[in-house]
Parts: sequence; structure tokens; C-alpha cells
Amino acid sequence: MEGIKISIQDNIQIIEENIEKALRKSGREGEKVELIAVTKTVDINRIKNALDYGIINIGENRVQELELKYNSLGDKINYHMIGHLQTNKVKNIINKTRLVHSLDRLSLAKEIDRRSKNEGIVTEVLLQVNVAEEETKFGLKLNEVLNFLEDVLVFDNIKVRGLMTIAPHVNHEETLRNIFKTLYNLKEDIKSRNYKELSMDYLSMGMSNDYELAIEEGSNMIRVGSNIFGKRNY
Ligand SMILES: *Cc1c(COP(=O)(O)O)cnc(C)c1O
Repeated sequence: MEGIKISIQDNIQIIEENIEKALRKSGREGEKVELIAVTKTVDINRIKNALDYGIINIGENRVQELELKYNSLGDKINYHMIGHLQTNKVKNIINKTRLVHSLDRLSLAKEIDRRSKNEGIVTEVLLQVNVAEEETKFGLKLNEVLNFLEDVLVFDNIKVRGLMTIAPHVNHEETLRNIFKTLYNLKEDIKSRNYKELSMDYLSMGMSNDYELAIEEGSNMIRVGSNIFGKRNY
């Protein structure tokens, strides 16, 4: 809107205050929530602006855009692949990402493992869960997660670090809370099974619309785009 100047600095500060508030509200004061600035469609200068104000994690949902940003901004910051990942694109991002949030099928796991092995690295991933079972979204169904996890634990060059979900775009608080609670409980259930080589550290849930609720329900990694950079025009 004309006349309204978006200050990336102010926006980040507001989010950080809201993170603290949500942690306090849920009795988790002092715990850490990682803020991933979602930079899809955002140009390099505006991203640099965000980096000046403390952002160190950025999230992209397209391979080509992640590569572009990596080539401009280098490896001083952490790149998160948060979107659907095609198997034939794995090779383009394999050495560039701190975390792939969208592991949702065995063919993808195989390719990530194979490419990681070639590079002599271990790639860290989250399993994407379609908690609400929306037809338009990718991700495992809740009842598929355990079997899939056990399949993935076999791969030496993949390390599962937690779970991710994208909540439906609704403003109904109880619906959202239920989704976040469900994923939190699943994480705790998996943790209690004490799988070897598995540390369920991250729960990646919460976006501009719902990150405070997500934190109150146990999230420790939020992916925020428009509340930092303004509305995307696409
Ligand atoms: C775009 C996107 C976000 C950020 O959405 P905002 O509503 O702009 O905060 C978070 N997660 C994923 C997977 C996305 O694609």
C-alpha cells in the first residue's frame, strides 16, 4: 500500500517479542525458537536487510530460487528447503541446505541418501506430515509416519531431526491448535520409542498466520515470510 513503509527491522523485532510472549504463555520461558525467514520471491537486497537485523536462517520452496540466493549470499547463512522437492532436483541443493523440511516419500529419501553419500555428507531432514490431510498439500498421513520413519532410519546419509507441517489457511484457533497439538504428540510418541540414531529435536510449524499458536503448542522452528517482508504479490 502506498504511504505505508514496511520496516523489516521492526517486523523482525515484533516477531521476536511475540515468540517470547508465546513461550512465556506456555511455560517455556528461556527456550529457543528458531525463526526461519521465508524469502521466496524476496529480492537479494531485502534479504540482506533482514540479515542485518539478525536473521541467519532463510527458507525457500523452490530449488532454483534457493540456488540463486545461495549463489548471491554464500554459505554464511543457513538455507532451509521448505517446499516440495522433486527427486531429480536433489542434486542441485544437496550441499547447500542445513535442513530439508519436506521429506515425504521413499524415492526422495533414496535419492537424498545416494547424493549425500557421493558428497560424503549426511543430510538432515524433517518428515513433512499432512496432519489435516488436505488434498492440495504434500506430506505423509499421520498413520504413515512411523513406518516411513523406520524405512528412512536405514539410510546412513540421512539424519531425521524432527517433523514439519503446514497448517490449513484458516483463522479458527481451535482447529489450528488441534493440528499443532497432534504433531507435538506424535513427536513425543516417536521420542519415547528411543530409536537409535534418532534425535527428534525440531518441530517446524507456524507461519505468519499462526506462529504464536504453534509455539504455544510446542513448536521450536517457525517459518515466517509475509510478516517480515510484506505480502507477496504472486
Ligand atoms: C511460503 C511458506 C511459508 C511462509 O508463509 P507466510 O504466510 O508468508 O509466513 C512457510 N512455510 C512454507 C512451506 C511456505 O511455502
